[in-house]
Amino acid sequence: MDPKSTAATLRVRLATFVQGLIPPTCYLCLDPGQPPALDLCAGCEADLPWLGPACGICAMPTRLPVDCCERCRAAPPVFDAAFAACHYEFPVIELIQRMKYRGELPLARILGTVLGRRLARCEQPLPDVVVPVPLHADRERQRGYNQAREIARYAARELGVPVADRLVRRIRATAEQAVLPASSRRANLRGAFAATPAAAGLRIAVLDDVLTTGATADALALALFAAGARRVEAWAVARASGAAAAPAQL
Ligand SMILES: [Zn+2]
Ligand SMILES: [Zn+2]
Repeated sequence: MDPKSTAATLRVRLATFVQGLIPPTCYLCLDPGQPPALDLCAGCEADLPWLGPACGICAMPTRLPVDCCERCRAAPPVFDAAFAACHYEFPVIELIQRMKYRGELPLARILGTVLGRRLARCEQPLPDVVVPVPLHADRERQRGYNQAREIARYAARELGVPVADRLVRRIRATAEQAVLPASSRRANLRGAFAATPAAAGLRIAVLDDVLTTGATADALALALFAAGARRVEAWAVARASGAAAAPAQL
């Protein structure tokens, strides 16, 4: 491991450790947070841009809750269902971007806890394992962490579901999805992931920070189903539903 990435990993671990020692404080307004470990006050939590009615398959917002939206009926995704806690809007967008691009890793605790608490309130059966969307090893070394894994730790803790980190690997470095137009995202991920036979028979939730076109979740679902997974859901803290998310065609 090169010294730069070791330093990044250590910095991340230290920040997480220090965070565990101090009482939670609201990241948005600096009021006390909610013990044991939510760094948001009840007011700021209530004001988050919660996702309302949505399609049960792709989690796209709808006027009324539906099991399957028209788009999913016309072109069903590979994964079985999706769940997102919030719209990809202020302040969730800032929290995610600060964590991802500015190394503010302690924000993973807010995002993961919020997602886990929201999921705990649904009466859906829980999966056997949560699988964070893997980064390619080179990118993870560069960044020092995988944001999806950090969020997954806290979400899974809320739900009492194990995180299975090694079930699927990113075997091909790909351009970052966020910089690509929706039309190129699917091709960018072709053959990017490989799952191990340990996925056989499992109900799996793949977890990412943002669900946009669903291309990443689809590529993971393809790999996991090929390895024998029984069910694959896509979980995300936030659902992007703007122009970038629109053409989710297979
Ligand atoms: Zn607050
Ligand atoms: Zn849908």
